[in-house]
Amino acid sequence: MRGSHIACLAVVSCLALPGCGGTAFMLPPVTDHEALVAAKEIEAADPTLPKFSRSDAYYREAIRRLGVQLTAGVAAVCARADTEECRFMFHYVDDDEVNAFADEGGDIYLHRGMLEYLETDEEIAAVMAHEMSHQIADHVYETRSSVLLGAVLGGLLMGGIAAVGGAPPEATEDWTTMGMQHGARAGQLAFSKEQEREADLLAAYVLARADFDLERAGRTFEVLAKLNGVATSSWNDTHPAGAERVVAWRKAVAEVEASPDKLPNIAAD
Ligand SMILES: [Zn+2]
Repeated sequence: MRGSHIACLAVVSCLALPGCGGTAFMLPPVTDHEALVAAKEIEAADPTLPKFSRSDAYYREAIRRLGVQLTAGVAAVCARADTEECRFMFHYVDDDEVNAFADEGGDIYLHRGMLEYLETDEEIAAVMAHEMSHQIADHVYETRSSVLLGAVLGGLLMGGIAAVGGAPPEATEDWTTMGMQHGARAGQLAFSKEQEREADLLAAYVLARADFDLERAGRTFEVLAKLNGVATSSWNDTHPAGAERVVAWRKAVAEVEASPDKLPNIAAD
């Protein structure tokens, strides 16, 4: 399909540009064999996906309390990541959407639909720490730049093709809009998996510095693996799900436990 071909071009252009994404903190990659073994383990352990529905007041209070605990120890992680944006505001969203996300300026949104699958404070804190880590690692800004660039390139390419092909002005405008939409989407997906991996790694440090039990927090990633078919498509599109993420989490925990200062190391280029 022509649209997706144009979108690919936008991604290639984005990846080729300096400063167009990239991660500073990285774990060693997860092998297929490791992911396969973990997938069988998760399946064998407990195939059910229970809900722990609680009141809105419970979730609001949990988010407030956990937010205080998480932010108390986070400044050193922000400093290591060289980010000046180290303020976080947590918002409870009273609806059934299975989602959580970070927005510009440190705003973090947690939907009840996601929280209902989490049982303990540690599990809720893991999702909060993951979203904080997107902010700490500057992903919100990176993604916005990449989406914008993808949209501009996509729009230029599609609009240009329509104009060169002798299309009337209205059609050229439609093609430009379509190209911008494809380009924006491609830009957002171009490095999201790497960003997610980096956010999970940083989250382990954020949780450790706030004295959360990392093993208990890790159950969140097993829940998320099972949530694959339930979460909204925006969550599924941008978050690596499943066993690979569970294995990566275990590696992150091992790295944190071996770290003398409980701070992440910047990966060499
Ligand atoms: Zn994420």
